[in-house]
Amino acid sequence: MRTEPTDTWATRVREAGLRATPGRVVTLRFLDSHPHSTTAQVHAGICTELPTISLQSVHNVVNDLSVCGLLRRIDLPGTGGARYETDHADNHHHIQCVACGRLEDVECAIGAAPCLTPSPVDGMSTILSAEITFRALCDDCARTRAHSTAPAVAAPSSRLTTGTTTRSDLHD
Ligand SMILES: [Zn+2]
Ligand SMILES: [Zn+2]
Repeated sequence: MRTEPTDTWATRVREAGLRATPGRVVTLRFLDSHPHSTTAQVHAGICTELPTISLQSVHNVVNDLSVCGLLRRIDLPGTGGARYETDHADNHHHIQCVACGRLEDVECAIGAAPCLTPSPVDGMSTILSAEITFRALCDDCARTRAHSTAPAVAAPSSRLTTGTTTRSDLHD
């Protein structure tokens, strides 16, 4: 991931019309190198550099920076709350493992928003963007799942599979 010098982030914050407080600048720098972090992860990541910053302050910071467009907020089910990344305006999408929650970027297929055209909806003719989340099983979880569920699927009544109930997160 790219990292940009602190003064660049300070400039960006000022250009967005906000005061370049240490909390905002350090949060941006952290999220640029740790995309898809939750507020708690941001707090844990920056509190050695800013020991006095509270979790509530980090909440306020990511909220302000999202409103002004410097951060992009990602809301996905089962990921333990909203996640944030610096907004590079590249219209990228996300792919999420439904088992462990691992989240990765996927390049936009078309390269510009909106990369999908919906069927027409009355009164909604100006399409700005399409946020796409691919739901997947990461290779690690697919391997685990193959080991733990294959025997049960192949012969549900004739084999003993002890202690391997991993099906709860298969279905929504
Ligand atoms: Zn996984
Ligand atoms: Zn992303």
